[in-house]
Amino acid sequence: MSLTNIYAPLGISDAVFALGEEVLASLTARFEAIDRTAEANQLKVIASMQKNRVNATHFAATTGYGYNDFGRDNLEKVYADVFHTEAALVRPQITCGTHALTVALSANLLPGDELLSPAGGPYDTLEEVIGIRPSPCSLKEYGVSYRQVDLLPDGTFDYEAISKAITPKTKLVTIQRSKGYKTRPTFSVRQIGELIAFCKAVKPDLIVMVDNCYGEFVEEIEPSDVGADMTVGSLIKNPGGGLAPIGGYIVGTEACVSRCAFRLSAPGLGQEVGANLGIMPAFYQGFFLAPTVTASALKGAVFAANLYERLGYRVIPTGSESRHDIIQAVELGSREAMVAFCRGIQAAAPVDSYVTPEPWAMPGYDSEVIMAAGAFVQGSSIELSADGPIREPYAVYFQGGLTWYHAKLGILMSLQKMVEAGLLSL
Ligand SMILES: *Cc1c(COP(=O)(O)O)cnc(C)c1O
Repeated sequence: MSLTNIYAPLGISDAVFALGEEVLASLTARFEAIDRTAEANQLKVIASMQKNRVNATHFAATTGYGYNDFGRDNLEKVYADVFHTEAALVRPQITCGTHALTVALSANLLPGDELLSPAGGPYDTLEEVIGIRPSPCSLKEYGVSYRQVDLLPDGTFDYEAISKAITPKTKLVTIQRSKGYKTRPTFSVRQIGELIAFCKAVKPDLIVMVDNCYGEFVEEIEPSDVGADMTVGSLIKNPGGGLAPIGGYIVGTEACVSRCAFRLSAPGLGQEVGANLGIMPAFYQGFFLAPTVTASALKGAVFAANLYERLGYRVIPTGSESRHDIIQAVELGSREAMVAFCRGIQAAAPVDSYVTPEPWAMPGYDSEVIMAAGAFVQGSSIELSADGPIREPYAVYFQGGLTWYHAKLGILMSLQKMVEAGLLSL
């Protein structure tokens, strides 16, 4: 059976399918490079599982306090080895990425300390954590001040302003790898390493935290390989491999991570408590799958960039740029186009394909947001999803795809819905 015949019953027109094939034909070398990175990362994960002698006892459930939870403790060793760090905290009690970042920050900042973001504003939800937008229990309420140095107009670091912003009060530097809901470039791990080295040259005792959300396994090295004291992320993004139903991780120095454990549970308890509640098989197996799942998502991002670029839209990163996270932004220019695009992603999903996404006011975000996700795990953005705040420049942020074939269908369907809404013609 020809591919067109497979796609037609799902609602993809011949014209949309043909354009997709034409774009794909030009991407062979890109896809090969993505596969090579996945191979290197897959072997890194397997080697660390072998080194830590992962076996069936590690998959057992614990309850109550979770003392002597060997599965949990060993998983943390596996993470620490993959990220090349002294310690790791990987827990279902970390509810999401924002929570992981909050634990890392609040555990390592004390009243009177200053937090510095040397690479522009942080992710939307961190504005309330830091107190840029007021919130009960923000770092600001606890007497932690915040300073920010914006990127230069060309998207590079403003080293002169950064060196001036580092004062005796500066305790912790936070660097966000991924662009988040911004249209700046995502930083490569090497760029992050240069920024870390610069900050530590100015003040050697600085703690550097990297928000690694969406970046894991996109390159062969991680921020922890280039000097980050804490590298932080969500398990319903890349490292959960689509199987983790909740969770976050913090990897880094023993000094920083043990403070995070005391903040997460309680002073005196730290890493010793926290039952795994039967979740270990999903955490181990998800981490095992994460390199190839990330590769599928990356292929989807590269395909979307090249398809929409061909149609004249501004895409970030561009179709040919190298990748440092799995997010693809497409500036669609209007609310209607964002809605049509998201309806296509939704219609291609294995779960909830029949629902229609609508813009809504979401907690933690300061403008209306539209989200399309038909996920097995609620809100999982390593599964194929698209979202974006309804504001200029009406950019939709597209990410995920547990399999490349699903990502491909979703992207074709997004274009199909835009064509059907009369927003463009092929
Ligand atoms: C997703 C994300 C977060 C927050 O993670 P949640 O799990 O949604 O709380 C923080 N920073 C970046 C860059 C992200 O992409």
